[in-house]
Amino acid sequence: MSARINIGRFAPSPTGPLHFGSLASALASYLQAHQCNGQWLVRMEDLDPPREVSGASDQILQQLDNHGLHWDGSVLYQSTRLESYREALESLTDLGLVYHCQCNRQRITTLGGIYDGHCRDLQLGKTDSAARLIIDDNNAAISFVDQIIGDYQQQLSIDVGDFVLQRRDQLFSYQLAVVVDDQFQSVSHVMRGADLLDSTPRQIYLQQSLGYRQPEYAHLPLALNSEGQKLSKQNHAASLLAGRESYNLWQALTWLRQEPPQELQYHSVDEILVWAVSHWDSRRLVNQPENTTAPLGY
Ligand code: GLU
Ligand code: ZN
Repeated sequence: MSARINIGRFAPSPTGPLHFGSLASALASYLQAHQCNGQWLVRMEDLDPPREVSGASDQILQQLDNHGLHWDGSVLYQSTRLESYREALESLTDLGLVYHCQCNRQRITTLGGIYDGHCRDLQLGKTDSAARLIIDDNNAAISFVDQIIGDYQQQLSIDVGDFVLQRRDQLFSYQLAVVVDDQFQSVSHVMRGADLLDSTPRQIYLQQSLGYRQPEYAHLPLALNSEGQKLSKQNHAASLLAGRESYNLWQALTWLRQEPPQELQYHSVDEILVWAVSHWDSRRLVNQPENTTAPLGY
């Protein structure tokens, strides 16, 4: 039997340029894939036009390229994949796992994020409604071993409830799209920020419902700003400055606890990446805090 090739991916949403935290995630998943002589894919998660910033996807790709983070194959744009998401939704519907929901935003907010199944038996039509996945109580306990965080579990029926696959405005949900595309691209290793840790049981539940393979998961620490907030576009994280790519990579390696030698920061991005691939060890992140302040200046 031949071993499955290692396929990793970086899947940014084009809501703004790369910041230090997203660079660290991209770098870590790149190193993980390359250390195993695997492939590293880039997927643009442009599923939510209202949240997107024009020019951001090209800018992100340019920034990755400038940092020497060259991807294998061509970039997959989720905006070209709607037919596949529709098919997956239909398969789940055929399995009797989907219903339509017309609860308004105010009601959902009152529920505090955990849907109570109100519309499950109402037989509402597709028009002007969201599609939700039924969480079957008997299969709702999901656990997995994260390569960095260790054992993680959720009881989906209690912790999440029936979740949205297609929104009322007809946009497909992140959870559905990410699962369909990780399967489509044969992704074997998902390495991403710990902000997505609590989405993983939902994704595993979907994989199990659709008969998909389950990738290995590893969730990286989150980079925080000096006020302790996650670096993000909402918190106005600074874009990475052009012309400082080697320094950015060196700082990201340090932040990822890979202990690069001081003088490595003065080398080219390609030289830094060669060093980093051969020294990469994600176990250095085990038992470290889930959130860590980004270096000064980011
Ligand atoms: N597009 C998601 C984000 O930027 C990441 C998706 C993933 O890695 O699963 O937050
Ligand atoms: Zn409802």
